[in-house]
Amino acid sequence: MSLVDGLLRASLPLIPRRVLWTVARRYVAGDELEDALGVVARLRGEGFGTILDVLGEGVESAAHARAAAAEYHRALVRLPAVDAHTVVSVKPTHLGLSVGTELCSELLSELCAAAAAQGRRVRLEMEDAPTIDGTLAVFSGLRERHPNLGCVLQARLFRTRDDVDRLLAGGPLNVRLVKGIYLEPASIAWTEDRDICRSYLELARRLIDGGAFVGLATHDDLLGDNLLALLRERGLDRGPPAARRYEFQLLLGVRRELAETWRDAGHHVRIYVPYGREWHAYSLRRLRRNPQIARHVLRALVARGA
Ligand code: FAD
Repeated sequence: MSLVDGLLRASLPLIPRRVLWTVARRYVAGDELEDALGVVARLRGEGFGTILDVLGEGVESAAHARAAAAEYHRALVRLPAVDAHTVVSVKPTHLGLSVGTELCSELLSELCAAAAAQGRRVRLEMEDAPTIDGTLAVFSGLRERHPNLGCVLQARLFRTRDDVDRLLAGGPLNVRLVKGIYLEPASIAWTEDRDICRSYLELARRLIDGGAFVGLATHDDLLGDNLLALLRERGLDRGPPAARRYEFQLLLGVRRELAETWRDAGHHVRIYVPYGREWHAYSLRRLRRNPQIARHVLRALVARGA
């Protein structure tokens, strides 16, 4: 990472929102549900599956959590006209996890029931380390009643191997496997990319061999090549793509060419489509991961004369 990149990453929160938006909007479908439905329809036409996310997190009141749930239900009313298979993805602290696990479970259970009525899946995302026990408690409490509910596991964390074994022992499992966007301390997580990739591959192998469906969420082509070798070795890369026990998942605005390569090679590929006015925290995390952040941000600052 160059010195300029490092400085810009550190000062991202100080950059005016209107400037930040010009570089952040590539990661977000727009402010409104209508914007997201347009992107879902376009991606479907291009042969991609989709994952719909209402942006928001860290909700501190039951009223805000209920408002977030209401927006998800509004999306569910509109989705069938656009795509039958879009997965709905939700952050636990957006549905009130910080207020209480009971509230989060209640709202998520209602969402799963409404999605199941459309034959649709729901994904409970994973946030930073202090929220993981609560998130897994909510997931474990609901998974039997709602088999359309899946979770996310983060390869950077030391604990994830045990979480995988525990979850596999609990019955049929649908997992999105990620490196983990939250930079956790070295006491609980690997911090070097090569260690995180090694852990990712090992966890993918464990999940696949344990019979789980795995959403391989990454934009890392070297890791992708190793995952493809694993899928081939296990004979999973055969049959109609939508009927296989894995898929690739990528974020809107990130490595589109890789998504096309995997799609064209016959793999099922889903794109994560977030929308809503709460784009700031989400986009800051994405921008920090963008290898060309200095170029993008400087160009936006110059264009705005900021
Ligand atoms: P990296 O090594 O970070 O990236 C590989 C390459 O992709 C980079 O070299 C670069 O070329 C490109 N790239 C990556 N990010 C960007 C970017 N922002 N802009 C431009 N280029 C980029 N994390 C969680 O902790 N919890 C979740 O619930 C969660 N859900 C996710 C859902 C999906 C569908 C995806 C794809 C990711 C999710 N993540 C989640 C994020 C994930 O943990 C990683 O932080 C993220 O995917 C980057 O890791 P990577 O595997 O792509 O590898």
